[in-house]
Order: sequence, then structure tokens, then C-alpha cells
Amino acid sequence: MTRKHEHDKGYHKETRLIHGDFHSPHWDYSDHIVPPISASAAYRLRSAERGAEGFQEFANPEFNRHTHPPIYIYDRLDEPSRSMLEDNMAAAEEGECGVAFSTGMAAIAASLCVLAKSGDTLLAHHTLYGCTYSLLTNWLPRFGVTVKMMNCLDLDALDKALTQEVAAVYFETPSNPILELVDVGAVRAAVDRANAARNPKKRRIFIVVDNTFATPFCQRPITLGADVVVESITKNVGGFGTDMGGMWVGPRLLEPDILLFRKDFGAPLAPKAAWPPLVYGLPTLGLRTGRQMETALALARFLDGHPAVARVVYPGLPSHPQHALAQKQMVDSDGKFAPGILIYFVLKGSPEEARESGRKVMNHLADHALSVTLAVSLGQIRTLIEHPSSMTHAPLPVEAQMAAGIDPGGIRISVGLERVEDIQRDLQDALGTL
Ligand SMILES: *Cc1c(COP(=O)(O)O)cnc(C)c1O
Repeated sequence: MTRKHEHDKGYHKETRLIHGDFHSPHWDYSDHIVPPISASAAYRLRSAERGAEGFQEFANPEFNRHTHPPIYIYDRLDEPSRSMLEDNMAAAEEGECGVAFSTGMAAIAASLCVLAKSGDTLLAHHTLYGCTYSLLTNWLPRFGVTVKMMNCLDLDALDKALTQEVAAVYFETPSNPILELVDVGAVRAAVDRANAARNPKKRRIFIVVDNTFATPFCQRPITLGADVVVESITKNVGGFGTDMGGMWVGPRLLEPDILLFRKDFGAPLAPKAAWPPLVYGLPTLGLRTGRQMETALALARFLDGHPAVARVVYPGLPSHPQHALAQKQMVDSDGKFAPGILIYFVLKGSPEEARESGRKVMNHLADHALSVTLAVSLGQIRTLIEHPSSMTHAPLPVEAQMAAGIDPGGIRISVGLERVEDIQRDLQDALGTL
């Protein structure tokens, strides 16, 4: 128990993330400086009775896997390397418990499928990561779940939309790719009003927030009023771009269902994929994010002054339409403003011209730049850039892109750890071709 005890002595979160917490009734690896990767698909059961007991305890609301030694049975149910990451992520997000999935999408699917059943309605903010949008519009309706896309910034509309059928409200803040913010506290207040007016037999409405863009370093949605956080740890938390993973963090009340869902739909995080974010990702999250945010602010200012750029969206710039909200909800655990590492900017010109300019800039960077890489994904040590209009959304005509909220000249940058002068030089060079 000694190391656990040390953890409570007011050390900064950044320091605690480096040292991790490798002791619980689940395991005791507190003498390892680096926690082990376990690799055992199945576990020896010392008796038939112990096997029966293990199945009885798994995902049982009356059994707390955080305070009792578990009976390990099979990797897909529960496993120590993954559990260490779950506990450390729950601590980072300041939630009660964590459950790790093989990808961010698996965590998002689980978070919604345990909350909504046939006949229920899910409300979602209308700008979303593409695969989440597809999950909500292509798949959940097949299971009898009605999905309503709306503008969660419009609080009157939200009040009206929170009807008896609503099971959950889902959003990203900042949203992908346009970095729009949703006020978590305001959504909490609206949901509290709706819950209070509910038929008592109805389950309360839950708020689920995708925290991929901000990461727990820049924002802890549960402390702002969310019930559940989901995120892709493939991105900033993993940080080095080597492995995929997803995390669900939420109340103990929901944990048994999430574990059962993971057992039966089957997308647990592999222990070997849990190890890099545990050993390299979380311990360097603060250092990486601090440096990346400094660079992001400098680049946002540079882009803002560039003649080829119509507008720049970065929550750290006073020109961000929700700068005040950003200052309130995007803060690190020392209370310091932490506006994230993503920048969105739009090139000048008519929709067709802007789209063509974006394509040119991407191709110039792909051919000439060292410090900026043309790629999807984000949150890596390398600066990644993409232009949705000529890449992910290329098949859509510009009018259809605009109707779907995709700006033909919109470009997203995920800032890496390269020297700011070099990134600026590569961007200057590419924008100079326009
Ligand atoms: C990447 C991403 C996801 C999905 O995560 P995967 O690990 O790729 O499955 C979900 N939400 C956001 C905002 C993302 O950027």
C-alpha cells in the first residue's frame, strides 16, 4: 500500500502520471518501475468451485472488482495489464472507473449501446467524427434507436429535445474538425431539469462526451458535469501512433453493463496494446501537450496573419467565437488554460477555388515538407495535416460538402513536437504556392 499512499500526498497530476499506480487488490506490481505486459489468454483455475465463483463475480454489480482480488478466467473478460491502464485513465479523467476497448470506436459503440435500447432516442451534436456519425446514422437506427442530430449550443432547442424517450446526449468538445465547443455545464443543467421532470420509472438521461481532442490533460468533462467520457487513445494519449485503443470512463453504476457488452461484443484492448499508452503515452502526455500547445498558439497566430488564409479556428485565440467558454472548460489540472493541440483554418477563395487550393497545399507538403506529414489521425509526436474536402469527403460535390458542414477550404493540423520554426517554414512554403 505504500506507493498508493504516496499518491495522495498532493503531488501534481503530471508527476503522478509518470509514476502511475501499479498496486491494487487486482495486482501488486509496485516493485516494478515499469509495469509488466501480461500475455495469457486463459488462466489456471485452482478448482471447479473457483471457476464457478469467477463467472459469478464477473460484471456482477454486487462485486467490486476494484476492491476485491479478481479471479482471472479469460483475457476477454478481465486482465491485469489492461486494468492498470483502466485505473490510470480513470484517475486522469477523474472518473470512478475505466474500461478499455480495442479502438475508440469500440468504446463509443459500447457507451451508447448500454444506454439506449429499442424505442429510445439519442441526441447528438451535429458535428461529429465521421465514423461516430456513421455509427449513429447507419447502425443504431437498425436496432430501433432513434437518433436526433441537433445543435447542442442552442440550449432552448436542447430543452425541447429532451423528451421522455431520450436515453443519452452525445457530443465532442472541441468537435472534429471545426473545433466548436459544447458547454458541458450548460448541457448538465438542461439534463438535470429534464431528469427532475421525468416519469420516475424512466431511467435518467446520461451525458456522454468524446474527449479525444482535448485529452484529460486539457479537460476533464466528468468534473464539468458529464456522466461518461469516451476517447480514442490511438490519438494523443497513446501519442506515438503505434497502437490503437479506446477508453470508456464513467460511474460504477454503468461498469457491469459495459464489461458485459465488451465480453459479448468482444473488442477488449489487447494487453500488448495497453502497455505502450501505459508506459510511454500517459507519462509523457503533460510534457508533449505543453510543448504542442505552445507551438499551436504560435502557428495559429502565424496562419491568422497569412494572406492566403480566410480564418483560423483555435480555442486559444481570442478570435475563437467561444474563447470565454474555452478558458472556462479547457484547463489543465493546475487550472492553467489548455486550449489543445489542434488547429483548423480555412483558405481564401470561392468554394471551388478554396478546395483546389487545399489540394495543392496538401500535395506540396507531401512532396516537400519534412516537419508536416499528410495523414489522417492526430495527437502524434509528428505534425499531421489533412484537408477533408479533397481527402475524406472528396466524392461529395462542394455544395453537398457545404451542406454537410465541410468547408471546401478547411484544413486541420494536429501539432507535433517538431521545432515551431520548421513547421512554420513548411507551411509558409506550401501556402506560398497559392
Ligand atoms: C479517431 C477518433 C475516434 C475513433 O477512434 P479510433 O481509435 O480510431 O477508433 C473517435 N472520436 C474522435 C474525435 C476521433 O478523433
